[in-house]
Amino acid sequence: MQAEDIKQEIRRLLAERNAVLLAHNYMRDEVQEIADITGDSLGLSQEAAKTNAEVIVFCGVHFMAESASILSPGKTVLLPRLDAGCPMADMVTVEGLLELKAKHPGVPVVTYVNSSAAVKAVSDICCTSANAVKVVNSLPDREVIFVPDRNLGQFVAKQSDKTFHYWDGYCPTHERLKADVVARLKEQHPDALFVCHPECNPSVVALADHACSTSGMYDFCRRSPAKRFIIGTEAGILYRLRQENPDKEFILASPALVCPNMKLTSLEDILEALTTMAPVVKVPEEIRVPAKRALDRMIAIPRD
Ligand code: SF4
Repeated sequence: MQAEDIKQEIRRLLAERNAVLLAHNYMRDEVQEIADITGDSLGLSQEAAKTNAEVIVFCGVHFMAESASILSPGKTVLLPRLDAGCPMADMVTVEGLLELKAKHPGVPVVTYVNSSAAVKAVSDICCTSANAVKVVNSLPDREVIFVPDRNLGQFVAKQSDKTFHYWDGYCPTHERLKADVVARLKEQHPDALFVCHPECNPSVVALADHACSTSGMYDFCRRSPAKRFIIGTEAGILYRLRQENPDKEFILASPALVCPNMKLTSLEDILEALTTMAPVVKVPEEIRVPAKRALDRMIAIPRD
């Protein structure tokens, strides 16, 4: 089947199944192109929850489909590639987190949404890369346990006077970007702004003109009068950045910024999922309810 025929068949099945197609900002271009909604992991789940769709097709990785299931328990959540996981989310286990909690009794656990539903369920509050500083600073406690991303944790700690107990997790994709590579690129393009994700190593973040979430990056690059940007996050973000800013140039800071898990989902996989209505991701109620509590606490914090 040709790509155009596959797309047509996907659209037909989406209508037939009353399904909404979500694509994370790091997905392949052709997947973002056909999606009903593109965005970051939590934003997508929140948007999908608002729709009347009975089926959510989540083009992303496993923890994202779990978040969709947590927020929309009445909908069927399909993850076209069940093998699309997140190595950073897998770095923290419930048992390990409970041990860390036992070492710091009474200290609240702030968990990045890039984590399993089971880990969220034993956490006090969740955060995204966009609101992590606000979430941490909203807590009355003087100490926090931050999991699983040590890089995001250190980024937040610089903007907080609390004591942090980090989980030693990281995103292997963002960690591959090295400070010397960025420094060289900045020398080659002195007019360019370097924008990176706080999942990057602190030595890389230190070189950034702006460090922010993927949604923050779209916003920053759109508003900025600069014409050239060096981008320090997963390559998939370039698709929308270039579409939204045809007069600006975007340089990926390193060809290593490709997450293999985010690139697994193809148009064929989406078609297969819609045809067979599988694989389904469903978070069991005993995990969903406490995990949702941690997400709800975060959502309750007022935005600026
Ligand atoms: S880019 Fe990093 S955090 Fe995102 S899914 Fe890939 S490994 Fe996980």
